[in-house]
Amino acid sequence: MTRFLVFIIFVFVVYYLIRNSLKGRTTKKISQQPKQKKEDVVNTPLKEISYVFYTAAKDGDTCDICMALDGKHLLPDHKMLLDIKPPHAGCKSSKGCRCRLVYVTQDEEGSREIESLLKRFGGMCDRQTIERARAI
Ligand SMILES: [Zn+2]
Repeated sequence: MTRFLVFIIFVFVVYYLIRNSLKGRTTKKISQQPKQKKEDVVNTPLKEISYVFYTAAKDGDTCDICMALDGKHLLPDHKMLLDIKPPHAGCKSSKGCRCRLVYVTQDEEGSREIESLLKRFGGMCDRQTIERARAI
């Protein structure tokens, strides 16, 4: 009789363990559902950025410093990028710095050309240099 009881308990324990492991597997399956990838411009990986250029408002209220930086082209990993990142502290415009950095991705037409040009010029060029080189 005792043997029989032990056997029953054993069967119950095995059943309980199997049920638990099955349960664990199903919940795991649910949590492993692939997350939807979002197209997010802000989170575009750096390697997809071809180059960056600086653009100032270019009106009567644009200060000389901003005007001088306008049209600067840089590679996205250039160390100067952090220094010139607008709005810059030295801006003397009464309206405040309204400059922007424009990020150009590699799928943009002509971006590879400018990117390789920038690599040749050490990672930074002004607009005139870019235009002159592209005209040749
Ligand atoms: Zn500015």
